[in-house]
Amino acid sequence: MGGVITQADGNLCTLRLRMPAGIVSPQQLIAIGQIAQKYTIDELHLTTRQTIEIPHIKTQDLPQIADEICASGNDIGAERAEVVNITACPGTDRCKLANIDSVHLAREIDKRYFRKDMPGKIRIAISACPNACTSESLNEIGITGLRTPIRKPGYCTGCGTCVQFCQEDALVVSEGSIVMDQDRCLDCGTCVRSCVYGLLESEPTAYRITFGGRRGRHPKVGMHLITVNSEEAALLVIDEIIDWIYRYARIGVPIVQQLGVSLNFEEFKANLPKKIPADSIVCQ
Ligand code: SF4
Ligand code: SF4
Ligand code: SF4
Repeated sequence: MGGVITQADGNLCTLRLRMPAGIVSPQQLIAIGQIAQKYTIDELHLTTRQTIEIPHIKTQDLPQIADEICASGNDIGAERAEVVNITACPGTDRCKLANIDSVHLAREIDKRYFRKDMPGKIRIAISACPNACTSESLNEIGITGLRTPIRKPGYCTGCGTCVQFCQEDALVVSEGSIVMDQDRCLDCGTCVRSCVYGLLESEPTAYRITFGGRRGRHPKVGMHLITVNSEEAALLVIDEIIDWIYRYARIGVPIVQQLGVSLNFEEFKANLPKKIPADSIVCQ
């Protein structure tokens, strides 16, 4: 059972639950609490991957608790060499800075791949803007929602409102008009909402996908793989990544350590556009 973690005291274990995007209904939460109480467990744990764990389970109680968890509308999590809980920020559902529906995407990825056996553990995280609240680029697969501003033709008053909104100093007023520095721009889209004259629009929202990040003893930021312009295309990219890892990665070695060994990232990246509709690709 992938979501079971043996504790320091070998007579006890922790049961991790499945909770894509860290969302749980009140009914699910009540059921988890009631099951824990029934087995005299007096605390629950919220994990860094947005799941809930039930700790301190006596090993003899585990099968019954797992059955009760599944019967209650919850599900057992994953922790081994498999696709583990998909994390996501609130996205367009709640955050005014969001560029994509990160929760919907997390649920779609969860439906396709959660608990899929893999050669190593696969962590996937989604942030709906470059503020990166889920630290997505520190996961094997990271997805970031982007919005690239476009300066529309029209009379700019040089009021500087958009300049105030840009945290990257990518906008300056020069000779009474706005000038954008694309090299500084992070494509957060914040400025787009700021111009009362509507002089800033944006390209369609985009999904920047990184591969090869990790936290832990030797943290590493994932490398840019591709940026696409729809959730459908992002899911196609995820399909390709999962298939690539499944076929070529070795068992027993962390996936990120296999870059340049079993996994030829540059070759995979170069071939990827052949498998994704050309009109979906924003940049590679
Ligand atoms: S990553 Fe961006 S969109 Fe997501 S919660 Fe953070 S600020 Fe909001
Ligand atoms: S998209 Fe973000 S970083 Fe780029 S110019 Fe607008 S506010 Fe600045
Ligand atoms: S683009 Fe709009 S907000 Fe920015 S300086 Fe010009 S008028 Fe002001």
